[in-house]
Amino acid sequence: MPFLSYRHAAQLRQELKDTRATVVTPEKEDFPELIRRWSDTCEKEAGAVVMVTSSHEVALVVAFANRHYIPIAVQGGGYSTSGASSTHGGIVINLSAMHNVLVDPASATIAVQGGATWGEVDQAAEREGLAVVGCTTSAAGVGGTTLSGGFGWLTGRHGLVIDNLVSVKMVLADGRVVTASEAEHPDLFWAVRGAGQSFGVATEFVLLAHRQRSPIFGGLLYFPADRLAAVIEFANQFDERATGDEGLFFGFTTRPPDLLSTVIVALLFYNGPRVAAEAFFAPLLALGPIQNETCEMPYPRMNTILGPLAASGARKRLSGTTVRLPLDPQIVHEVYEDFDRIMRSYPRVEGSVVVFELLPYARVSQVPLDATACANRGPYHNVATILRWHDPELDAKMANLERALLRKIRERGGVASIAGHGVGIYANYAGHEANAQELFGDNLPRLQKLKKQYDPKNMFRKWHNLLTHSHEPTVIC
Ligand SMILES: Cc1cc2nc3c(=O)[nH]c(=O)nc-3n(C[C@H](O)[C@H](O)[C@H](O)COP(=O)(O)OP(=O)(O)OC[C@H]3O[C@@H](n4cnc5c(N)ncnc54)[C@H](O)[C@@H]3O)c2cc1C
Repeated sequence: MPFLSYRHAAQLRQELKDTRATVVTPEKEDFPELIRRWSDTCEKEAGAVVMVTSSHEVALVVAFANRHYIPIAVQGGGYSTSGASSTHGGIVINLSAMHNVLVDPASATIAVQGGATWGEVDQAAEREGLAVVGCTTSAAGVGGTTLSGGFGWLTGRHGLVIDNLVSVKMVLADGRVVTASEAEHPDLFWAVRGAGQSFGVATEFVLLAHRQRSPIFGGLLYFPADRLAAVIEFANQFDERATGDEGLFFGFTTRPPDLLSTVIVALLFYNGPRVAAEAFFAPLLALGPIQNETCEMPYPRMNTILGPLAASGARKRLSGTTVRLPLDPQIVHEVYEDFDRIMRSYPRVEGSVVVFELLPYARVSQVPLDATACANRGPYHNVATILRWHDPELDAKMANLERALLRKIRERGGVASIAGHGVGIYANYAGHEANAQELFGDNLPRLQKLKKQYDPKNMFRKWHNLLTHSHEPTVIC
């Protein structure tokens, strides 16, 4: 794998000299900050970070990398933990300066540049009384979330982020800039909705927005471990009781000041008035939480609640699987015990979390599996694990512990794949643990065909390598 030589860096600077793009090489003062990511495990010494400001500049960088066989990584919000938005020695295309958000109330659409965060979209939408299906964590990037499918608190009502995607401007491997939508490049639009990272750099998304009431109801509840059976009992009724406007994330974490002991945490969402919310969540609220932080709030605030958990710094692994309700209480108890053992056995792992993410799935699964590349649509819910630690020596250990936790959930209560209901795994939670077949199922052959058409050298392969099982030569690492 060729690294970006001094000569190449100088050449790239020269090619970008009439633009506003900046090529930041390792000797520059701001370089260390630019290669930082949400997880310290993803900090890699790039050959250069290019701060781009337009699709044209992205196209120049991509074409340069293509010509010289230099690996590229695209950084949106930097919230993945697989290392997909970093590169050892290659070029990082840093989209953070491309974060404009333009709301058009008349058409209820929002144009978002590829480097924006969900917080920026939420704030801009709210000023017009609108909201988009975004991410439950406002600091995460629109780019990485959207291109894999994306879900948020409004998913129960409006489906996945990609179900609300009107068009996307893409810089392709050969440097062409195209718009993909139902009308233009529909095959690319199909692929981008679920596997977009593998097809180019998305420099602008147009998203459908929806009228959003304010306030909504939500917030955190913490419970002692002895309430677990009752919390599971409530969770197990979610599918029958939810109408589309609710969300319940629950699981395990540690809570200051006692960072060693595991508590049950529940994050409630109700897109409606407090009185209706309290009626829906009454059985949970009656369980006597140690702490109750629920209240009415503007919608954007809901997506900041996970903020402390999602704070940058420390080494982290985000992984996941899916589960069907009803959950087996025995398995959830075992997961609690396993998680608690990890919290007590390793230094500075506080802030780790296991979350069962219950959102109404009817809107998601009513879209046919072959309508978009995203194959994670079915009568099930995501489970996410985030392990957090500091010592690099623990990297392998944490990976194994997380795998074991997820294996237990998947093998004894999870969804490997239900016939006719998709793959049961969210590509953004899969790290590099799952292969392309597992992630895309029956959609893979079409994706591979399109991949060879749009990116024959497989330049965009850092997220998930769609050509893993093919004999296509891959040039870029
Ligand atoms: C705390 C936390 C909470 C989360 N909550 C949710 C949630 O509620 N819903 C949900 O759906 N997901 C959620 N996720 C998963 C999240 O969507 C992924 O981590 C996603 O990869 C983040 O995107 P990013 O742009 O910030 O990441 P990055 O690390 O910048 O990018 C991830 C991948 O996408 C590529 N990419 C990013 N932007 C672009 C672009 N514009 N064009 C082309 N490729 C691009 C990168 O090259 C990389 O391969 C959460 C993650 C975390 C850490």
